[in-house]
Formats: sequence, structure tokens, C-alpha cells
Amino acid sequence: MKKLCVIGDPVAHSQSPLIHNTMLKALGLDGEYHYGRERVAGSDTALFLGRARAEGCVGFNATMPHKENLLPHMDFTDVDALRCGSVNTVCMREGGCYGYNTDGRGLVAALGEEGLTLPGRHVTLLGAGGAAKSVALKLTQQGAVRVNVCNRTPERAEHLCRLEKGTLRPGDFSTDTLCRRAAESFLLVNCTSLGMEGTAGQFEDFSFLEALPAGATVCDLIYAPAETELLRRARALGHHTMNGLGMLLWQAIYALEFFINQKLDGPAMAALLRKTLT
Ligand code: NAP
Repeated sequence: MKKLCVIGDPVAHSQSPLIHNTMLKALGLDGEYHYGRERVAGSDTALFLGRARAEGCVGFNATMPHKENLLPHMDFTDVDALRCGSVNTVCMREGGCYGYNTDGRGLVAALGEEGLTLPGRHVTLLGAGGAAKSVALKLTQQGAVRVNVCNRTPERAEHLCRLEKGTLRPGDFSTDTLCRRAAESFLLVNCTSLGMEGTAGQFEDFSFLEALPAGATVCDLIYAPAETELLRRARALGHHTMNGLGMLLWQAIYALEFFINQKLDGPAMAALLRKTLT
């Protein structure tokens, strides 16, 4: 049996085993591959890589705190992983470790399911952490002409925006800045952990939602709870809303394509996974 897994710390909450084993079963590959989970401390990324292959591991996904640690250990890194400096999918092939990042692609596919396209668009991201970085860079690559990155720690937003000075614009988290940036955006994406299950903290002020233009979409990368306070308030104001489940499913679909080296029917897989997970 070929081994696949997700590594992280913590990792017990991860839906990746259920998602990948559901897809493997649907493809008739559950006799060939099994996808598990392994708690690996942040200091043990290299240790895990050293023993993974010997234990029959052919690929894995990485969550916190490994995404950035993995990069220097890769023998090949795809453009998305290189651009955002983090890896969420690793294939152990002949010739070495191949690192990919499917997060940004995952969100773009989820937006596509909702009929949202990026060319010519202005977007505002809340947050400047790892998820915001992969999303910001993917949105500009897909044609967004302005991506505002507003963060509690403005220096972090400034640092991220140096990667693409023309299109990425840093901002702070003040009500004034958030309202001004929201007013010009067709899409607002929460890339912070505010509102996530098991996490303390909440937006102090939601008035930026009122500044959004009519017909705007509010997307939360959080999927547990299924509807965060941000999405509940956005929906009450008549905005179109979406949570992070679509991104989670699509990043996994793209990761499995790398693991098994086979193109999948993405929409069919996403539909199957939505049925399984909700
Ligand atoms: P991260 O690198 O730790 O970044 C966390 C971000 O949240 C930072 O911008 C941080 O601001 C901000 N933040 C945290 N507490 C805050 C507070 N009290 N007030 C204002 N801002 C606060 O985490 P990440 O990996 O980017 O993940 C961010 C979120 O995206 C998480 O909820 C994660 O579950 C979700 N996510 C979802 C998917 C998916 O597939 N749907 C994929 C990846 C991530 P500072 O810089 O000021 O600390």
C-alpha cells in the first residue's frame, strides 16, 4: 500500500484524510493508496522527510507549522510554491521531493464555482499571513488589477506587498482604511483567523461591510464554523457570501492530481466531497 498523509501540529482536526480517502475510493484507488495523518512538531520537518520515504510514503500535505519550513528541502518547487515561499503538497518521486502549493489555485477554483472571475477586478484581503500571501499572488496572476492587503500588523502587509508593487497595496486594520478599501472592491476575503472555531477574538467593527458596493461577495477562508459572524452579517446586508470549504476541497483535488499523476474531474469531485462533508 502506498502511503499518503497530512502532517502538522496540531493535525487531529484535519479533514484531509476524509477528503483524500473519499476521492481515492471514488477513483477505485483505495486498494493502492491510503491517506493518514501524522502529528509532526515544527522542529521535526527534516526528520519527517528523512524517514517518510523509507516508510513507503509517496506524498503528503503540510499544514501549520511546516509550509514554510519545507521549501529549502525540496529538490523541485513549482512556481506557485516558489512565489509564496511555502509548500502544501509534496510528492516523493524518483529523483527527489517535489513541492507544490495548491492553496491559491484552490480559492480561484472555488470563486469560479460561484461565477466570479478576476480580470480587471479590485479585491480586498483582510490579513497578511501565509494564506493571504498565496491568495494575493494567485489573484494578481489571474488578472486582478488591485489587491488591497489590510493587516493588524501593517508592516507584515507592507512586506507582502513588496512582492508585486504595482498591484498589491498594503493597508492597516483601521475602520477608515477598511471602509475605503472595501468601497472599491467587488470581493472581500477574510484571510485572518478571526471568527475561527476554537480561536479567541472577533472583528471589533464590521462597518466595512456596509461600505462594500452592491453585489459584492464576502468570502471567509474559514470553514468551521460554516458561517462565521462576518459571513452572517454580510448575508444580512444582502451580500453574496461563501466560506472556505470550496478552497479546502479544491486545494485537495489539485494535490491528489499531483500525488497520483492523473487529471481529475474537479467539479464532480468537489460535488462528491461537499456531499460527504456537509
Ligand atoms: P497565519 O499565517 O497565522 O496568519 C494569521 C493572520 O490573521 C495574520 O494576518 C494575523 O495578523 C491575523 N490575525 C490573527 N489574530 C488577529 C486579531 N485578533 N486581529 C486581527 N488580525 C488577526 O495563518 P494563515 O495560515 O494565513 O491562516 C489564516 C486563516 O485562513 C485561518 O483561519 C485558516 O484556517 C484559514 N485557511 C483556510 C484555508 C482553506 O483551505 N479554506 C487554507 C489556509 C488557511 P498579524 O499579522 O497582525 O498577526
